[in-house]
Amino acid sequence: MIYLVEHFYSIQGEGKYTGTPSLFLRFGGCNMKCEGFGCSETSRTGVDVRGCDTVYAVNKEHFSHSWIPITSVQELLNILDKYELPNAVDIVLTGGEPLIYANDLIFVDFLNALHKNGHKICFETNGSLDVDFEKYPVYKECIFALSVKLSNSGENLKKRVNGDIIFSLASSSKESFFKFSIDRNSINLGLEEEIEDVLIHSPSTPVYCMPVGGSKKEVERNTEPLIEFCKAKGYNFSDRLHIRIWDKNKGV
Ligand code: SF4
Repeated sequence: MIYLVEHFYSIQGEGKYTGTPSLFLRFGGCNMKCEGFGCSETSRTGVDVRGCDTVYAVNKEHFSHSWIPITSVQELLNILDKYELPNAVDIVLTGGEPLIYANDLIFVDFLNALHKNGHKICFETNGSLDVDFEKYPVYKECIFALSVKLSNSGENLKKRVNGDIIFSLASSSKESFFKFSIDRNSINLGLEEEIEDVLIHSPSTPVYCMPVGGSKKEVERNTEPLIEFCKAKGYNFSDRLHIRIWDKNKGV
Protein backbone atom coordinates (compact mmCIF):
# COMPACT_ATOMS: atom_id res chain seq x y z
CA MET A 1 0.00 0.00 0.00
CA ILE A 2 1.24 3.46 -0.95
CA TYR A 3 0.86 6.16 1.69
CA LEU A 4 0.84 9.85 0.90
CA VAL A 5 1.52 12.23 3.78
CA GLU A 6 1.09 15.65 2.20
CA HIS A 7 1.20 17.58 -1.04
CA PHE A 8 1.84 21.24 -1.70
CA TYR A 9 2.86 23.62 -4.45
CA SER A 10 5.88 25.69 -3.58
CA ILE A 11 9.40 26.41 -4.73
CA GLN A 12 12.15 23.85 -4.40
CA GLY A 13 14.13 24.85 -1.31
CA GLU A 14 17.18 22.60 -1.63
CA GLY A 15 19.77 21.35 -4.07
CA LYS A 16 20.42 22.06 -7.71
CA TYR A 17 16.90 23.25 -8.54
CA THR A 18 16.48 25.64 -5.61
CA GLY A 19 13.90 28.26 -6.47
CA THR A 20 12.11 26.23 -9.15
CA PRO A 21 8.29 26.12 -8.82
CA SER A 22 7.49 22.52 -7.91
CA LEU A 23 4.60 20.38 -6.78
CA PHE A 24 5.69 18.25 -3.85
CA LEU A 25 4.26 14.87 -2.98
CA ARG A 26 5.53 13.50 0.29
CA PHE A 27 5.18 9.75 0.68
CA GLY A 28 5.06 7.95 4.02
CA GLY A 29 7.59 5.37 5.15
CA CYS A 30 11.35 5.02 5.07
CA ASN A 31 13.93 2.26 5.40
CA MET A 32 15.90 4.41 7.88
CA LYS A 33 15.24 6.47 11.02
CA CYS A 34 18.17 8.92 11.14
CA GLU A 35 17.77 9.62 14.85
CA GLY A 36 21.27 11.13 14.78
CA PHE A 37 19.86 14.29 13.22
CA GLY A 38 18.32 15.03 16.60
CA CYS A 39 15.03 16.45 15.32
CA SER A 40 11.86 15.52 17.12
CA GLU A 41 8.14 15.97 16.79
CA THR A 42 5.33 15.41 19.25
CA SER A 43 2.71 12.91 18.16
CA ARG A 44 -0.96 13.64 18.78
CA THR A 45 -0.81 11.26 21.77
CA GLY A 46 1.94 13.41 23.28
CA VAL A 47 4.92 11.18 22.49
CA ASP A 48 8.14 12.99 21.58
CA VAL A 49 9.37 11.08 18.51
CA ARG A 50 13.02 11.49 17.51
CA GLY A 51 14.27 11.32 13.94
CA CYS A 52 14.92 13.58 10.99
CA ASP A 53 13.10 16.79 10.10
CA THR A 54 10.37 14.76 8.38
CA VAL A 55 9.89 12.22 11.16
CA TYR A 56 6.12 12.58 10.66
CA ALA A 57 6.61 10.97 7.22
CA VAL A 58 8.89 8.22 8.55
CA ASN A 59 7.37 6.94 11.77
CA LYS A 60 4.18 5.07 10.92
CA GLU A 61 3.56 3.99 14.48
CA HIS A 62 3.03 7.53 15.75
CA PHE A 63 1.96 9.53 12.70
CA SER A 64 -0.02 7.17 10.46
CA HIS A 65 -3.29 8.96 11.33
CA SER A 66 -2.27 11.62 8.80
CA TRP A 67 -1.07 9.18 6.14
CA ILE A 68 -3.47 8.79 3.22
CA PRO A 69 -3.69 5.29 1.68
CA ILE A 70 -3.54 5.44 -2.12
CA THR A 71 -5.41 2.75 -4.00
CA SER A 72 -5.36 4.01 -7.59
CA VAL A 73 -3.23 6.09 -9.93
CA GLN A 74 -6.19 8.43 -10.46
CA GLU A 75 -6.10 9.45 -6.79
CA LEU A 76 -2.55 10.69 -7.32
CA LEU A 77 -3.37 12.38 -10.63
CA ASN A 78 -6.37 14.14 -9.03
CA ILE A 79 -3.95 15.94 -6.74
CA LEU A 80 -2.49 17.82 -9.71
CA ASP A 81 -6.00 19.05 -10.60
CA LYS A 82 -6.37 20.62 -7.14
CA TYR A 83 -3.75 23.21 -8.01
CA GLU A 84 -3.90 25.93 -10.62
CA LEU A 85 -0.55 24.97 -12.05
CA PRO A 86 0.68 27.43 -14.69
CA ASN A 87 2.25 24.68 -16.81
CA ALA A 88 3.80 21.24 -16.50
CA VAL A 89 5.72 22.20 -13.35
CA ASP A 90 8.40 20.04 -11.77
CA ILE A 91 7.06 17.23 -9.62
CA VAL A 92 9.15 16.42 -6.55
CA LEU A 93 8.63 12.99 -5.01
CA THR A 94 9.91 13.01 -1.48
CA GLY A 95 9.32 11.41 1.87
CA GLY A 96 10.20 9.56 3.91
CA GLU A 97 11.81 7.50 1.18
CA PRO A 98 9.73 7.47 -2.01
CA LEU A 99 11.71 4.61 -3.55
CA ILE A 100 10.19 2.14 -1.08
CA TYR A 101 7.35 2.24 -3.62
CA ALA A 102 9.60 1.92 -6.69
CA ASN A 103 8.10 -1.43 -7.76
CA ASP A 104 4.48 -0.60 -6.98
CA LEU A 105 2.53 -0.56 -10.24
CA ILE A 106 0.31 2.35 -9.16
CA PHE A 107 3.43 4.34 -8.43
CA VAL A 108 5.06 3.41 -11.77
CA ASP A 109 1.85 4.25 -13.67
CA PHE A 110 1.82 7.63 -11.95
CA LEU A 111 5.39 8.30 -13.09
CA ASN A 112 4.50 7.30 -16.65
CA ALA A 113 1.53 9.68 -16.64
CA LEU A 114 3.64 12.56 -15.30
CA HIS A 115 6.32 11.97 -17.89
CA LYS A 116 3.77 11.73 -20.70
CA ASN A 117 2.29 15.07 -19.59
CA GLY A 118 5.68 16.77 -19.80
CA HIS A 119 6.52 17.10 -16.11
CA LYS A 120 10.10 16.91 -14.90
CA ILE A 121 10.18 14.24 -12.18
CA CYS A 122 12.62 14.73 -9.32
CA PHE A 123 13.19 12.12 -6.63
CA GLU A 124 14.57 13.04 -3.24
CA THR A 125 16.06 9.76 -2.09
CA ASN A 126 18.57 8.46 0.44
CA GLY A 127 20.15 6.49 -2.43
CA SER A 128 20.06 3.13 -0.67
CA LEU A 129 17.23 1.46 -2.62
CA ASP A 130 17.71 0.36 -6.20
CA VAL A 131 15.36 0.83 -9.11
CA ASP A 132 14.78 -1.56 -12.00
CA PHE A 133 15.59 0.75 -14.91
CA GLU A 134 15.09 -1.98 -17.51
CA LYS A 135 11.70 -3.16 -16.27
CA TYR A 136 10.46 0.41 -15.64
CA PRO A 137 12.18 2.67 -18.22
CA VAL A 138 10.39 5.76 -16.91
CA TYR A 139 13.01 5.91 -14.16
CA LYS A 140 15.57 6.71 -16.87
CA GLU A 141 13.66 9.96 -17.43
CA CYS A 142 13.83 10.98 -13.75
CA ILE A 143 16.23 13.16 -11.79
CA PHE A 144 17.63 11.78 -8.54
CA ALA A 145 18.79 13.98 -5.67
CA LEU A 146 20.96 11.47 -3.84
CA SER A 147 20.86 12.39 -0.15
CA VAL A 148 23.17 9.59 0.88
CA LYS A 149 23.32 9.55 4.66
CA LEU A 150 26.56 10.11 6.56
CA SER A 151 27.46 8.88 10.05
CA ASN A 152 25.82 11.98 11.59
CA SER A 153 22.49 10.34 10.69
CA GLY A 154 23.12 7.64 13.28
CA GLU A 155 22.46 4.93 10.70
CA ASN A 156 24.67 1.90 10.16
CA LEU A 157 27.23 2.26 7.32
CA LYS A 158 26.10 -0.88 5.47
CA LYS A 159 22.54 0.34 5.44
CA ARG A 160 23.21 3.90 4.31
CA VAL A 161 25.98 3.46 1.71
CA ASN A 162 25.70 0.92 -1.09
CA GLY A 163 28.13 1.71 -3.90
CA ASP A 164 26.40 -0.42 -6.52
CA ILE A 165 23.07 1.27 -5.90
CA ILE A 166 24.59 4.76 -5.94
CA PHE A 167 26.29 3.93 -9.24
CA SER A 168 23.10 2.47 -10.69
CA LEU A 169 20.93 5.47 -9.75
CA ALA A 170 23.53 7.99 -10.92
CA SER A 171 24.47 6.29 -14.18
CA SER A 172 21.06 5.10 -15.39
CA SER A 173 18.96 8.18 -14.65
CA LYS A 174 18.49 11.33 -16.69
CA GLU A 175 20.39 13.36 -14.12
CA SER A 176 21.55 13.10 -10.54
CA PHE A 177 23.38 15.06 -7.88
CA PHE A 178 24.53 14.34 -4.35
CA LYS A 179 22.96 16.27 -1.52
CA PHE A 180 24.50 15.84 1.92
CA SER A 181 23.06 17.13 5.21
CA ILE A 182 25.85 18.45 7.42
CA ASP A 183 25.92 19.98 10.90
CA ARG A 184 28.71 22.15 12.29
CA ASN A 185 29.85 19.52 14.81
CA SER A 186 30.38 16.86 12.15
CA ILE A 187 32.70 19.00 10.07
CA ASN A 188 36.29 17.89 10.59
CA LEU A 189 35.22 14.70 12.37
CA GLY A 190 36.20 12.51 9.44
CA LEU A 191 33.32 13.79 7.37
CA GLU A 192 35.53 14.68 4.42
CA GLU A 193 36.67 11.08 4.08
CA GLU A 194 33.12 9.84 4.48
CA ILE A 195 31.92 12.04 1.64
CA GLU A 196 34.83 11.03 -0.55
CA ASP A 197 34.04 7.36 0.13
CA VAL A 198 30.56 7.99 -1.25
CA LEU A 199 31.73 10.04 -4.23
CA ILE A 200 34.06 7.31 -5.52
CA HIS A 201 30.95 5.42 -6.64
CA SER A 202 30.03 8.25 -9.05
CA PRO A 203 32.88 10.78 -9.24
CA SER A 204 31.37 13.01 -11.93
CA THR A 205 28.09 13.57 -10.08
CA PRO A 206 27.84 17.15 -8.71
CA VAL A 207 27.91 17.63 -4.93
CA TYR A 208 25.68 19.89 -2.85
CA CYS A 209 26.01 20.25 0.92
CA MET A 210 23.18 21.71 2.97
CA PRO A 211 22.95 22.58 6.66
CA VAL A 212 21.20 20.13 8.99
CA GLY A 213 18.18 21.60 10.71
CA GLY A 214 14.44 21.32 11.06
CA SER A 215 14.18 24.94 12.20
CA LYS A 216 15.47 28.27 10.99
CA LYS A 217 17.62 28.61 14.11
CA GLU A 218 19.36 25.25 13.55
CA VAL A 219 19.89 25.92 9.84
CA GLU A 220 21.40 29.32 10.62
CA ARG A 221 23.70 27.79 13.27
CA ASN A 222 25.11 25.30 10.77
CA THR A 223 25.30 27.58 7.73
CA GLU A 224 28.55 29.50 8.09
CA PRO A 225 30.77 26.56 9.10
CA LEU A 226 29.30 24.61 6.20
CA ILE A 227 30.00 27.41 3.73
CA GLU A 228 33.63 27.39 4.87
CA PHE A 229 33.69 23.60 4.41
CA CYS A 230 32.25 23.92 0.88
CA LYS A 231 34.78 26.60 -0.02
CA ALA A 232 37.65 24.41 1.18
CA LYS A 233 36.43 21.30 -0.66
CA GLY A 234 35.02 22.90 -3.79
CA TYR A 235 31.52 21.57 -3.14
CA ASN A 236 28.34 23.52 -3.86
CA PHE A 237 26.52 24.99 -0.87
CA SER A 238 22.78 24.40 -0.86
CA ASP A 239 20.55 26.43 1.38
CA ARG A 240 17.36 25.07 2.92
CA LEU A 241 15.36 27.98 1.65
CA HIS A 242 11.94 26.71 2.74
CA ILE A 243 13.11 26.39 6.36
CA ARG A 244 14.83 29.76 6.28
CA ILE A 245 11.62 31.36 4.97
CA TRP A 246 8.89 29.34 6.66
CA ASP A 247 10.79 27.87 9.64
CA LYS A 248 9.06 24.77 11.06
CA ASN A 249 5.84 25.22 9.07
CA LYS A 250 4.87 22.17 7.03
CA GLY A 251 3.26 22.10 3.62
CA VAL A 252 5.19 25.05 2.19
S1 SF4 B 1 16.54 8.61 5.08
FE1 SF4 B 1 15.71 10.68 4.89
S2 SF4 B 1 13.50 10.51 5.30
FE2 SF4 B 1 14.47 8.59 5.97
S3 SF4 B 1 14.82 8.92 8.15
FE3 SF4 B 1 16.71 9.54 7.09
S4 SF4 B 1 16.52 11.73 6.67
FE4 SF4 B 1 14.49 10.97 7.24
